[in-house]
Amino acid sequence: MLDNLDKFTHLKRGTAGAINIDPLQRGGILTPEAREAIMEWADGYSVCDFCTGSLEGIQNPPIKDFVHEALPEFLEVDQVRITHGAREGMFAAMHSLCKRGSTVVADGNAHYTTLLAAELAGLKVELVSASEKPDYRVDPNGYEEAICRVRGRGEEVDMAVLTYPDGNYGNLVDARAVSEICHREEIPMMLNGAYSVGRMDISAERLGADVIVGSGHKSMASSGPIGVLGASEEHGSRIFRRSKLVPNKELEMLGCTLRGAGVLTMMASFPAVVERTKHWDEEVEKARWFAKEMEELGMTLVGDRPHGHDLMFFKSDVLYEISQTAKKGRYFLYRELKKRKIFGIKPGLTRQFKLSTYLLSREELETVLEAFEEIVALHPKA
Ligand SMILES: *Cc1c(COP(=O)(O)O)cnc(C)c1O
Repeated sequence: MLDNLDKFTHLKRGTAGAINIDPLQRGGILTPEAREAIMEWADGYSVCDFCTGSLEGIQNPPIKDFVHEALPEFLEVDQVRITHGAREGMFAAMHSLCKRGSTVVADGNAHYTTLLAAELAGLKVELVSASEKPDYRVDPNGYEEAICRVRGRGEEVDMAVLTYPDGNYGNLVDARAVSEICHREEIPMMLNGAYSVGRMDISAERLGADVIVGSGHKSMASSGPIGVLGASEEHGSRIFRRSKLVPNKELEMLGCTLRGAGVLTMMASFPAVVERTKHWDEEVEKARWFAKEMEELGMTLVGDRPHGHDLMFFKSDVLYEISQTAKKGRYFLYRELKKRKIFGIKPGLTRQFKLSTYLLSREELETVLEAFEEIVALHPKA
């Protein structure tokens, strides 16, 4: 292997000029400013030129103002730190705020990383189950019941997590109702905003979140891995406590988190990110229009109706039926879309898939809809 390393160099992605409808990727596409920043700051440890001991203290580039002023104002939360992603933020909060062996209550649509974070922190998870198809809704009152169930077993609940929205259906639960229940039961509520912070106008204060996490590469036009972790004064003082051995370093962050270009891309994109959250209504309207058009082609939107997010999950029996006799079987959809320079639906999926309309123009979405229409019309069903 080591005598033939050519394949590791001159890497091309091969998606230039395509329309990307992958929900995972839409909100992480860099702004031109971030693309410029990444070249300027690409060298390892580039942010440390003028470091005086802590990442959040660096004034040039202006990380200090970004972390201590801009982000707390943006999220309406007392304290913020940069993390390596939403999952690392959830882990840090669970690890610092919950006693080992206690339980975290989470919504049934929670991302797998919520479960991993809890497991790694030595915690049990009690889920608030989501309703059956086609809605998959989580009822805020389910939190009350889940907390009671755990306490009824003589166990402790140390935190509740709400995924807002979840990464499968793009469903939004009434976060305010959940946080009110949590506060009545005297447990902190963590909002997982991987799909909302950087897209929607999110205020931890308004939603009653004691802790909030976001994902830079998912929703803040950043080159990852990068995320944000915000907390109230009370919880922040525990999460961001300092090391006993190295007193100027924050222990849970292992001293410094983002030590390179990633944080510069998040800063460079930030003005555009602030601006785009003000136009969220237009994104929702566009998503609803797109879903309606897809339904006219025989596909069905599942999850919240009317839908409140650009992440949408469709069932498509019509494409599944086609796949039964299509030349490439279940890969036909991926190939047909690829032929039309549309990427983002996983190879092999036909019966159900997720997509996102985020920041795509109506013209681009018309192209996607025409592609689906043609694909349905061209192929005989089984
Ligand atoms: C993508 C996603 C995550 C993980 O985000 P990272 O920043 O990659 O850790 C967590 N939760 C939800 C709901 C997600 O969609």
